[in-house]
Amino acid sequence: MNYFKYEDNFLCVDGVKVCDLAKKYSTPLYIYSQKSIEDVFNAYNESIDIPHQVCYAVKANSNIAIIQTMSRLGAGFDIVSKGELARVIKAGGDPSKVMYSGVAKRVDEIEYALEMGIHCFNVESEPEMERINEIALKMEKKAPISIRVNPDVDAKTHPYISTGMKKNKFGVPIERAFALYKHAAELPGIEIIGIDCHIGSQLTELKPFSDALDRVLLLVKRLEESGISLKHIDMGGGLGVVYDQEVPPTPQEYMKLLQDKLSGYNLKLIIEPGRSLVANAGILVTQVQYLKKGELHDFAIVDAGMNDMIRPALYQAWMKIDVAERKNIESGVYDVVGPVCESSDFLGKDRSLPIEQGDYIVQFSAGAYGFSMSSTYNSRPMAAEILVNNGKDYMIRKRDTIDDLYRNEILPVQE
Ligand SMILES: *Cc1c(COP(=O)(O)O)cnc(C)c1O
Repeated sequence: MNYFKYEDNFLCVDGVKVCDLAKKYSTPLYIYSQKSIEDVFNAYNESIDIPHQVCYAVKANSNIAIIQTMSRLGAGFDIVSKGELARVIKAGGDPSKVMYSGVAKRVDEIEYALEMGIHCFNVESEPEMERINEIALKMEKKAPISIRVNPDVDAKTHPYISTGMKKNKFGVPIERAFALYKHAAELPGIEIIGIDCHIGSQLTELKPFSDALDRVLLLVKRLEESGISLKHIDMGGGLGVVYDQEVPPTPQEYMKLLQDKLSGYNLKLIIEPGRSLVANAGILVTQVQYLKKGELHDFAIVDAGMNDMIRPALYQAWMKIDVAERKNIESGVYDVVGPVCESSDFLGKDRSLPIEQGDYIVQFSAGAYGFSMSSTYNSRPMAAEILVNNGKDYMIRKRDTIDDLYRNEILPVQE
């Protein structure tokens, strides 16, 4: 379903004109539809009737207002840092529904997570297991863990967002996981509660999920036979969304697959979707500064750059671009480029757009891995973010000021 629609030539979200928001808050501007998030969340949550918990992967969009929306819907959270856990708590999320993933958990991060009483550490290596055990013992606690296994399946997605193959840094190779579980069972600071995998992002087929689950379930059986019984299985995130012509499975189709395969097991299902919950709930609005004739291409130079949205530069991602107001003018074909001094600074190439200087244009599907991956490179203040719900707009992040850019910098006093 599309939550951003043209009404009388104006792109609207929940009846609110995108142009009006751009004028009110200036650009570059992220706009999110709360209804879109709610509908996708409910599609996951309500299409399955085995015990389950949807844990939103915070890194996809970490704004505390988005986290709050998820929390009110009943979400748990998948986090990858102390900062993300702090965001969850700040937004009123329940730490006892938090899964802590990530390959590089530091001592202070593990201590904080144990103190806050998270649901589970998704352990990604042997030395991490030792570290968690030691810290838990020192704190006189038992750390609940699952092992993130790397099932060695090809997620058939971009190599930079593929995480479940032998060559990736994530998880414990499935062949070594059994031994690590046996070892963990002897560690007094560790309580084994589950098993975890996450094979990649933007998956557009069910087959890799299905293969991964089969492999993980073989290990579950082997563990059971050796006296280690698990309470949950965490399938990670990764379901793809429509950016262009993809036809990814729906959340319902995906959940049905999981439910069918898990019938007969006494395991609670945990999933950690990020992108699929928020990507199509968001747009990035930017203003055309100049139309510039080139030798090979014409350029539409806009005021959002790779610092605001890095996906095209980082993953060659294709994202739809269109106007915020449809005018009766001739289209030109443009490379839509930003202000940053890098040739990879583009939002889209070869786009046919009916635009003039000063017009607002929109990049769609920008709600995931958009703002959360942004930076201030080229000393560009980070964008503002707006949440729209029931026809009302709420500023959920102020635009950075120029002072914010060097707030933490210090001029040294030298002799
Ligand atoms: C990034 C990530 C997710 C979310 O992935 P999406 O593709 O955004 O759904 C879930 N779990 C882990 C461990 C991750 O690293």
